[in-house]
Amino acid sequence: MSNLDRQAALSVCGGRGFVVPEPVRELLAPRHVRLGESTEVRRLLPNLGRRMVGAWAFVDHYGPDDIADEPGMQVPPHPHMGLQTVSWLHEGEVLHRDSLGSLETIRPRELGLMTSGRAISHSEESPRPHGALLHGAQLWVALPDAHRTVEPHFQHHKDLPTVTAPGLTATVILGTLDDATSPGTAYTPIVGADLALSSGAEARLPLDPDFEYAVLSMSGEAEVDGVPVLPGSMLYLGCGRTELPLRAVSDAGLMLLGGEPFEEEIVMWWNFVARTQDDITQAREDWMNGDRFGTVRGYDGAPLPAPALPAVPLKPRGRVR
Ligand code: MN
Repeated sequence: MSNLDRQAALSVCGGRGFVVPEPVRELLAPRHVRLGESTEVRRLLPNLGRRMVGAWAFVDHYGPDDIADEPGMQVPPHPHMGLQTVSWLHEGEVLHRDSLGSLETIRPRELGLMTSGRAISHSEESPRPHGALLHGAQLWVALPDAHRTVEPHFQHHKDLPTVTAPGLTATVILGTLDDATSPGTAYTPIVGADLALSSGAEARLPLDPDFEYAVLSMSGEAEVDGVPVLPGSMLYLGCGRTELPLRAVSDAGLMLLGGEPFEEEIVMWWNFVARTQDDITQAREDWMNGDRFGTVRGYDGAPLPAPALPAVPLKPRGRVR
């Protein structure tokens, strides 16, 4: 590619000159992280060399786990700030409680969207009784500086719009895909969609060249732009694309994540997204003192204490390391 070509192409990716506007195929391996005593998750974001995709700043894929004879998910009350959490299930159910008084059971392909804004706390648990399998993804969306202190709110949307093609049902979780828009509140140009493919399906998904994208595989065997993506891994696709070829070798469940490259540098520590170490230190102190983050009622157990701050300074970081 000549220098001239590169200059000309800088008008895409939301006009962000710091993003090379070339489609890429970068397979991101998961980091296996143990949460609590029995749950292991696969963490795709932040990843080595790639911290964000659009405003998506955190992606954990978990299960399918057989929890028939186990408590299942038991996440005690903990705080959030500066981000939105997205709960997305393929199997099972999660009971959400928060400091606003929300009490909602999230089921497969329903959107649980919590906007923490300045401060919220919540708990997540498998209800009793619960289904035998638990399979889902937990995602965070960083709020831009202009909106990171909005009033906290929780949205539960059971009926989300879909885009269909032969062998493909795309459920729009956040933002817009093709001509379908999620009712969930978004604060940056972003998209999240669940892609259910049937065995043998071949489809081309319309994309926005101003967005960067990644596809997470949750189940089955599928190829994304010709690259096999196994469950629990994610393919980063870059930006500058107008469509994405998908092929399902078996029934497969994928998630499309995208958005305009996030320009701001953030400090992410524990359950907080901030801009400075001082923001983080204050939030930690407020949580430990019982200030600002409210109280979650009804959870059978004590709130999570914050871990100690690291000895090294917490520095703002951009979308790539
Ligand atoms: Mn949480």
